Formats: sequence, C-alpha cells, structure tokens
Amino acid sequence: RYDVATGQAGSAARTWRRVRRLISNDDGAVALMAEREERLRLLRVREDARQRQWKAERNAELERERVVAELGGHGPGFGDGVGNGSPGGASISRHGISASASNAGPAATQTAQPQHLGWSGHIRPEEVIDKLTERIADRMRNELRLELQKESETLQQRVAAENLQMDDYLARELETQNTCPVCYELMVPPEHAPQLLFPCGHTFCAKCIHSHYVTHGKRTCPICRKKIDSKAPNYSLQQLILNFVQKRQRMQGNRPEGMAAMTHAVVAGSRPDASTPAAGDTGQSNDEHDRLRRQSERIQIRLTVLMNELTDTISEAAALEGAAQSSRLVLDHLGAQEQDVLKRMAGLKAELELLQEQRSMQEAKVAKSEEEATAALSRRQMLTDTIGPLQAELKKIDLLMTGLSEQ
Ligand SMILES: [Zn+2]
Ligand SMILES: [Zn+2]
Repeated sequence: RYDVATGQAGSAARTWRRVRRLISNDDGAVALMAEREERLRLLRVREDARQRQWKAERNAELERERVVAELGGHGPGFGDGVGNGSPGGASISRHGISASASNAGPAATQTAQPQHLGWSGHIRPEEVIDKLTERIADRMRNELRLELQKESETLQQRVAAENLQMDDYLARELETQNTCPVCYELMVPPEHAPQLLFPCGHTFCAKCIHSHYVTHGKRTCPICRKKIDSKAPNYSLQQLILNFVQKRQRMQGNRPEGMAAMTHAVVAGSRPDASTPAAGDTGQSNDEHDRLRRQSERIQIRLTVLMNELTDTISEAAALEGAAQSSRLVLDHLGAQEQDVLKRMAGLKAELELLQEQRSMQEAKVAKSEEEATAALSRRQMLTDTIGPLQAELKKIDLLMTGLSEQ
C-alpha cells in the first residue's frame, strides 16, 4: 500500500525499525529510544482515537506533499496522477504547502482511492517512503538531542552536588586526619602547628610535642615509641590546614547553617524522583559509616598513645619504687648510725660529768691548799719578824757580857 497516511498508521512498526536503524549510531540512542517508545505508546493510548487518526492523516499528507515538492512534485507523471484523482490535489502540487493546509478533505479522498494516483511518473513510492523515514528520523534526532541535553544538564547538576558532597567529605576527612593524636585539636598554627618527628614520620601539635619532649623529657614517639632523632615543622601540612580553616570560615560566613547541611540539601534536591529513596538512605548510612570509621580511627590512635603512656608510666613507677627502696635502706642505716652515736654520746656525757665533778673537787682542794700555803707563809714572816730582833738583842747582850768579863 502506497498511500502515505494509512501507510504510516499501518506500518508504524516498520517505520520505527527504519528510524532506529538510521539513528542507532548515536551514542546512548538505543536506550533512550526504548524509553521514548514506551512514552509514546502511553501518549497514543491517552489520545482520542479520532483526533489521532485525523492528525495522522493530516500530518502524513503534509509530509507527503513536502516530500513530493522536494522531489520535484511538479513532474508530469505525478501531476497527472493527482489531477486525475482530484482537482484540489493538483493545486497542492503547484502551490506547495500553503495550499495543502486547508485541504484535508481532498487528502481523505486520495486516501480512499490510492489506486488512482498512478505512481508512474518520476517519483517512485520508495523514494517518498525513504524521504519520509528520513524526515521522521531527523525529528527523532532533534528530540533526542533535546532529551540528551536535558539529561546532561541534570547530570551536571548531580555532578555539582556530588562535588559539593565530596568537598564536605574531604573537609571532614581533613579535619579528622589532621587533628593531633594527643589533644584532638586540629593542628592550626601557631599554638598547634604540626610538628613532624624523625625518623618515624608521625605528626603531633607543637604544644603536645613540647610537653612530651621538653617538659616530661621523653625521647620516643608517643605512637610508635621509636626514638626521636629530630623534629621539624610540617610546612606543607600547615599550609593545607590554614587554607582549610580559612575556607571553612568563609563558608560558614556564607552559610550559617553549615557546610554539611547545605550539601545535604543540594544532594536531596538533585534527587527529586521518588523512585530512589533507598539511594538517599544508603547515602545517609554511608555518611554514618564514614563518621563511625573516622571515630574508630581516632579512638584507636588515642588508645595507642595512652597504652604507650601506660607502659612508660608502669616502668617509671617500677624504677621509682626501686629508687625509693634503696633510699629507705640508706635511711635505715643512717638511723642505726645515729642511734650508735647517740649511745656513745650518752656515755661520753656521763664521763664528762664525772670529770667535771672531779675537776671541781680538785679546784676546791687547790684553793684550800693555796689558802693553807698563804697562811703558812704569813706565819713564817711573823716568826722571822719576831726572831730577828730577839737574835739582835741576844747578840747585844753577849757583847755586853764579853765586855764585862774582860774588865
Ligand atoms: Zn596536641
Ligand atoms: Zn612515631
């Protein structure tokens, strides 16, 4: 059957196959074609049957006339054929599309008597079908292009939302991965500037490492307990953290409800179709899983640090206990010595007292003797003084007696 209107209505499936063949080299077209086929089917069901029929006939006629015009519809064969069937038809071929719009009636007439058209001219029916198919394919391509454009816009929005979500994820990751394992603070300079230990490569904040290394005099890494040869500021990490903090401040200034809330709103907005609530749930549970994983990592590092501190403290306590014990021994010894000295001192004291007593007795004796000596001396003086004159008197008497006897 060569009648175009009924041809399109009757062989829609065949046309579709041709259209699909023509556009099957477009990227992603086949999948979209299936979707479109289904949508078009539903549309057709909803449409009023009569109106559909009328439209199909009218559109087919218009299409056919355009094709005929393009193929050189003014040729004698076709012109004659139409002229035979209907005078109105002849005017269409001569005056083109503008005339044909008001000529649904004659088109219907043609439909009713296709055998009179007599396709014996220069235009072959296969050519008309090919041209028609090509046009339909063009229209389909345009619609597909629009569809793909819309699809790519949706995709871009989703990508933007996912980028935001990724930013948020990276921000949280950066915040947790770059907190000091000892004090949990984000390592923001200058107080908590990141310090890299050598050779183990672990990083702590300046405050904690100062307390660990200088104040407590510990020379091993709090996490891996390797000996610390040296330490240095981690400038690249410091810059990263500073950039992050600045960006976060800017973001929080712009969005008072916070970065995460914003991201979630955008992500939710990018999934308006109700067919994927499970995806949202999965996203949330993924977020929750990430959060718990980070929490677990933090606690594990913290636990390592604290276990190391416990080990250190246990050995320190044992060493201090040993030192205390030896100190106690020394103390006991000194106590014994003290007792000994005290005992000896008591003996000496008694001896001293005895000596002092003896000495005072002796002192008294000395005093008495000196007194007696003095008394004796004065008695001697007295006797001497008495004896002297007596002797002189005696001498005088002797002299007198000697003189008397000589006379
Ligand atoms: Zn710290
Ligand atoms: Zn270490």
